[in-house]
Amino acid sequence: MTIMKSEDRFRLGEDKVLPVALADVERAAARIHGRVTRAPLVASPTLSERTGQPVHLKLETRQPIGAFKLRGAMNAILSLDDTARQRGLVTASTGNHGRAVAYAARELGVPAVICMSSLVPDNKVEAIRALGAQICIVGASQDDAQEEVERLVRTSGLTPIPPFDDVDVVAGQGTIGLEIVEDLPDLATVLVPLSGGGLAGGIAAAVKALKPQAHVIGISMERGAAMHAAIKAGKPVAIREEETLADSLGGGIGLANRVTFAICRDLLDDIVLLTEDEIAAGIRHAARQEGEVVEGAGAVGIAAILAGKVQLSGPTAVIVSGGNIDAETHRHIIGRSTG
Ligand SMILES: *Cc1c(COP(=O)(O)O)cnc(C)c1O
Repeated sequence: MTIMKSEDRFRLGEDKVLPVALADVERAAARIHGRVTRAPLVASPTLSERTGQPVHLKLETRQPIGAFKLRGAMNAILSLDDTARQRGLVTASTGNHGRAVAYAARELGVPAVICMSSLVPDNKVEAIRALGAQICIVGASQDDAQEEVERLVRTSGLTPIPPFDDVDVVAGQGTIGLEIVEDLPDLATVLVPLSGGGLAGGIAAAVKALKPQAHVIGISMERGAAMHAAIKAGKPVAIREEETLADSLGGGIGLANRVTFAICRDLLDDIVLLTEDEIAAGIRHAARQEGEVVEGAGAVGIAAILAGKVQLSGPTAVIVSGGNIDAETHRHIIGRSTG
């Protein structure tokens, strides 16, 4: 589903100053060098044969926390001044962003508090506790946890590390774009999982500056595609959150979004939406054909190709953004023969 023709969109991008530029991404790359994994870009013979174009997978599943979010969190934390950093960090994410903040904080020797509601399952709580963060259980919803973050920022002077709507976080995620262009200089298309838009926005900022002709396509699930709804409406809108296999893509973009909405609106060439069955097929393909354990959010690029929902015109990079999927869910999905 094309929202705007890429030529129009690119013209928009050219005469506007976006909040994150190539130079920001390059500085982020220098800052986080040696502290995050340079994830491999590997050829996918099966997807290449299927599409008739060379398809490569960027395996962010290889990051020490199993997802790309370490890049943005590490860059944001390293960009703080020393005093702010030593006072400690706080966030409310129980997913990959929470893991990223906990891991980066431990690596850098600074305290981190991760706030979560009493409804968060034990295994998620323990995964973050095991990374050395202080856990703060409060209230019965994600909103309650977020309120506690704001209270701790006011009362304890902790520094919040946002999951996506932050220039340093976006620039950190954008380092993936630099690496892809370096490894695949004739890049034509990038397929990027899209939720809050930190990942897609950062990659688009880097790729569009280096390869203006390349297409950057965001992929979301049909169930609660917040950035897609916002771009269609011309402004951030409230969306109903629904359960999805791509759980790391859930949540809104924030009604007061400052950074990622403008970048995604101006730089993404298209946004593709997937059904739950299509996402399951992507997870299954990753396991059976590529030998990779990939979570729903990480499999949407592969899924979009399998579903025939993207047109590839040359060398393609698919961002496989994360692999943190519950073992039982994974077994159940790869055991299914179709769907
Ligand atoms: C957070 C996340 C995304 C989406 O990133 P945004 O910056 O919110 O768009 C995609 N895949 C995985 C595995 C994630 O954890």
